[in-house]
Amino acid sequence: MQEFVEEYGKIWGNLPPNWRARGRDLALDILSAGMDATIGFNTYLAKPRIQFLYIHHVFKDEEKQLENLLKILSSKHTFISYSEAWTRLLEGNIDKPYIAFSSDDGLKNNLKAAAILKEYGASACFFVCPAIVGEKDFNKIKAFSADRLHFPPVEFMDWNDVLHLQNTGHEIGSHTMSHINVAKTPHDILLQEIQDSKRILDVKCGNTIHFAYPYGRHFHFSSAGRKMVFAQGFLSCASAERGCHIVPSGGIEDKEQLLIRRDHVILDWPINHISYFLSRNVMKADIKNNFFPEYADSHPDK
Ligand SMILES: [Zn+2]
Repeated sequence: MQEFVEEYGKIWGNLPPNWRARGRDLALDILSAGMDATIGFNTYLAKPRIQFLYIHHVFKDEEKQLENLLKILSSKHTFISYSEAWTRLLEGNIDKPYIAFSSDDGLKNNLKAAAILKEYGASACFFVCPAIVGEKDFNKIKAFSADRLHFPPVEFMDWNDVLHLQNTGHEIGSHTMSHINVAKTPHDILLQEIQDSKRILDVKCGNTIHFAYPYGRHFHFSSAGRKMVFAQGFLSCASAERGCHIVPSGGIEDKEQLLIRRDHVILDWPINHISYFLSRNVMKADIKNNFFPEYADSHPDK
């Protein structure tokens, strides 16, 4: 019998330690940030910059929290599309505080996220894995959820859902074919994963330019992987490394050196925690954070 997870509250206690640890790490980060609390969030959040935020899911018990978050963020930021954020980075055109949203893995409840975002004048780029889009075999879904996402079985979008997102003003990007760890994948399989995802998404959705690698930390990626992503025709590459973007006035000349940083948000985090890590990003903002590690220290714009 198929039993998909529908409420975040029901799975929280059953998640593997690496998921639970994210909340704890965040709390420790906050304690160690050394932020000047007397300045307050408002001062930090008023800084012109681009902040990317991404989610994985909006289960039924998270819908209200997403609305609250958007309400609060919209009072201090202008929401822009993922492509506009990327273009502004390349052009060095950041005149106020901006936020761009994305979502990874293509869960079915992303449809609800998309609808709520639209209510607040926002859009998102949804990074999907074509191998699981429209999968109906529960055992395959269960295995994919457990092995690739470290999550209980969740329902995924089908191609009609993906096209619906696109038709309602959202964007679609690649998250590899089957959610692989780029750093641990042999060259020929990696090439296939990136190439096939580009080919399939181009056919289904039209030219697909954005890519986000699974798991998202520096150590889940590689210089060879980055070269392959751009060689296969993607124009942007995103991580899940935290941080906001400030850029030199001339912008970023070589788009292949641009590391898009995104902050992961779990919607049941208290809003103060989210404000705190966004503020901490402002405190640590640095032009060299725009670049992949192999370029960061030597870049002339630094
Ligand atoms: Zn993912």
